[in-house]
Amino acid sequence: MIQIIQDGFNDIFSRFFRLRPIRLVLYITHRCNSRCIMCSIWKEKVEKELFFDDYKMLFSNDFLKRIRYVTISGGEACLRNDLAEIIGLLIKNNPKIKKINLATNALNPNLTTPQIKKVGEVLKDKNIKFVIQISVDALDETDDKIRGISNASSKILLTIDQLKDMQKIYPFLKLSLVCLIQPLNITKLDSMLNYFLKENVDFLFTVVTYSKSYYENLDTDAIRFNNTQRGIAIKFLEKLSLNNSYNIGKRFLYYELAEMLKGKKQKRGCPMLRENLALESDGRVIPCINTEPLFYGNIKDNSLSRIWRNRKTRDTIFQIRKEFCPNCMSACGISILNVSWFWLKSFLKDF
Ligand code: SF4
Ligand code: SF4
Repeated sequence: MIQIIQDGFNDIFSRFFRLRPIRLVLYITHRCNSRCIMCSIWKEKVEKELFFDDYKMLFSNDFLKRIRYVTISGGEACLRNDLAEIIGLLIKNNPKIKKINLATNALNPNLTTPQIKKVGEVLKDKNIKFVIQISVDALDETDDKIRGISNASSKILLTIDQLKDMQKIYPFLKLSLVCLIQPLNITKLDSMLNYFLKENVDFLFTVVTYSKSYYENLDTDAIRFNNTQRGIAIKFLEKLSLNNSYNIGKRFLYYELAEMLKGKKQKRGCPMLRENLALESDGRVIPCINTEPLFYGNIKDNSLSRIWRNRKTRDTIFQIRKEFCPNCMSACGISILNVSWFWLKSFLKDF
């Protein structure tokens, strides 16, 4: 509860003052072992990646001392051999960290499971929640088409089983399954929901996003909804948003995504530009992945505090709020204030 109040105050004050970030997002590699239809990262020739010593210098920076939440992603984050060491360094230098999310495609159980085990050892007895976010978009050959990998879903399900076993050793390890709604799986959404409920795990539905630079998927016709598919997605999301048994933040997200699919503008009050420091694998500090190639600066050329507060950053934020945020369907963040407003409206309606 204290944490929610603290985050709420941060949400309010960060609207008026450029406070130091409380969330850190690390895209630690662009290498990926998947071949997803909605993303082109795997086609990149990765040349520049921060070294362990770069992270060592970064994490010892006092500028990051307010960080409470960390997300680690890629590419496929588990492809970094030094993943556990990077996390170890991070928590050693930043004692306020309460939660670490790690996103993985889970397509290779022989890669993901041992990597998570190593991180589990590092986080043991540290009182930090460790959430593994796994993408599961379908449970049959549809997932092969989405991932571009044969037997994709059976590989992912095997990884999930192994991680569930691991929870007996590391009870602080939690699973969160994410289904990306897109044309290819539009007829599978109810079966995905039933699967998540049967597995009794945390889950989230998001909607495919289009980006010029990060996913490089603007020209991929297979991920564009036709009217019928859009209608199915809207109905499904509305159904989720009305379900009182789900977390209010998620219900707000589902409501918002459904409204945006109908053509409305974003109202989540996404805190990415105010509270998050997002670092690309080559050292660029970026506003968020949806706005690449825009970036604030590079930690190799400038100090974090200068990058966070300089004129270029202010101008970039202004540009993003105007040009990108109103139509952004990414589930990157939701303002606590906006969720509270949504809760109040739902409460009064039910009353
Ligand atoms: S969406 Fe994720 S798993 Fe798929 S290719 Fe891109 S980075 Fe890899
Ligand atoms: S709304 Fe979208 S584009 Fe805007 S900051 Fe958030 S994630 Fe980025």
